[in-house]
Amino acid sequence: MGEWSEYFEDFPEENPSNYIDGTFNPRLAARISAQEHKQADANKAANAELNAMITKAKSDTKARSLLVTEGCPQCGLNELNTYKISDKFYLCECQDCGIYGKGTTHQIAFKSTSDAIGEFKDWREGSEY
Ligand SMILES: [Zn+2]
Repeated sequence: MGEWSEYFEDFPEENPSNYIDGTFNPRLAARISAQEHKQADANKAANAELNAMITKAKSDTKARSLLVTEGCPQCGLNELNTYKISDKFYLCECQDCGIYGKGTTHQIAFKSTSDAIGEFKDWREGSEY
């Protein structure tokens, strides 16, 4: 790789990335490449911003939808939050050990949480919501 880039510095007309539509044009090629990098950076920043917005929207929704806090089937602490995200989407998440589960009713969500005991699931590392 290093050898090729040195070679292309000495013989830029041999570098295929210096051709635009078959015409040797290293300045335009460099400008397009720089624009592409700038666009990629902008896309990355936009995605990060979007992800932050989604994360915030989800945590706002959870704050609004907290139904009950009860004993966690795994760690036993009174840290299991159940959220009613929508009429048919209940979500349990333990604020301590991280176990989680979902279901169309509170009971089903609680059962799916209980069924996950021993799977070492943690909603903070990727939840159902
Ligand atoms: Zn727990």
